[in-house]
Amino acid sequence: MKFVEEYRDSGLAAQYAEKIRTAVTRPWTIMEICGGQTHTIVKSGIDGLLPGSLTLVHGPGCPVCVTPLELIDKAVAIASTPGVLFTSFGDMLRVPGSERDLLSVKAAGGDVRIVYSPLDALHLARQNPGKQVVFFAVGFETTAPANATAVFQARQWGIKNFFVLCSHVLVPPAMEAILSSPLNRVQAFLAAGHVCTVMGYEEYIPLAARYRVPIVVTGFEPVDILQGIYYAVRQLESGHAEVENPYSRIVRREGNRPARELIRKIFAVTDRAWRGIGIIPASGFRLRDEFAEYDAEKKFSVRGIRAAEPSVCIAGQVLQGLKKPHECPAFGSPCTPEHPLGAPMVSSEGACAAYYHYGFRRDSRG
Ligand code: SF4
Repeated sequence: MKFVEEYRDSGLAAQYAEKIRTAVTRPWTIMEICGGQTHTIVKSGIDGLLPGSLTLVHGPGCPVCVTPLELIDKAVAIASTPGVLFTSFGDMLRVPGSERDLLSVKAAGGDVRIVYSPLDALHLARQNPGKQVVFFAVGFETTAPANATAVFQARQWGIKNFFVLCSHVLVPPAMEAILSSPLNRVQAFLAAGHVCTVMGYEEYIPLAARYRVPIVVTGFEPVDILQGIYYAVRQLESGHAEVENPYSRIVRREGNRPARELIRKIFAVTDRAWRGIGIIPASGFRLRDEFAEYDAEKKFSVRGIRAAEPSVCIAGQVLQGLKKPHECPAFGSPCTPEHPLGAPMVSSEGACAAYYHYGFRRDSRG
């Protein structure tokens, strides 16, 4: 498959690994932002190809993982309401809330359905005029255009029984929160290529300059990741701190202008709570006031729900690159994908699940 297979080429990967080993002369710590990149790194054994002085830490780029506990509780409360048809992508159903998850609401008779697109939820609203159809709109900038399209289309079609429980988060403010923390150890970033496909990378340019940190727009195949690491190391070793875009087969500097325009029309920037991290200013999207009639939090009066994180889970430290998943005392026992204690063990993009599935164990590497 063009633009995929060549980025899985083992010979090319070995060449980049050798370039990295040759370039590195000092210890460096690099964070990949996206959970998809984390999975490629762990699944492909990229960690093992790198010199010991180069540390990869895993960022907050898994949307399921950073969705606050209280939002899961709000989803559970709405899904449990009689007359509600609650829709979501599949991986949100198993994320534990304070007391239960969406799957247990479904098991108890709630109308909870998995959809593959917010437009599927909108069609369900058309087909079920007697129900209040809610879509759990979780994600980064990548999923915002599709969710904006659904709300825009609902207005166009005059649909009154469609709502979104919105928890969009934005990558650049999270990177800034990590960089400005006194505990920060990240010296370079691999930016998430799919986020940049939508938003472009102009927002990263002032970040790179202000914090003197290289930012490399990176894809998701093994050669993409190794290339991104090599570009980051090359900058670190030479004292540069710029934005580079080796993922240019997909990403343009300005991103996808029509998608950005649609996002701007439907959403406004707002402060947003990140699970395990706390509130980051201007780090999310909310529906604009003129689209408030589609806001599930307003429709179902769940704004007062609050929740406390379980103390055993160190997801917040994992998501900021301060700890690795296997350094969590609960990793592997009692926390497993079958019995997750935190979102990073549930989601297919979660760092804890990646370490678990691909054989990283405390007793083997820790
Ligand atoms: S291993 Fe489980 S408890 Fe530990 S940080 Fe990951 S999700 Fe949380």
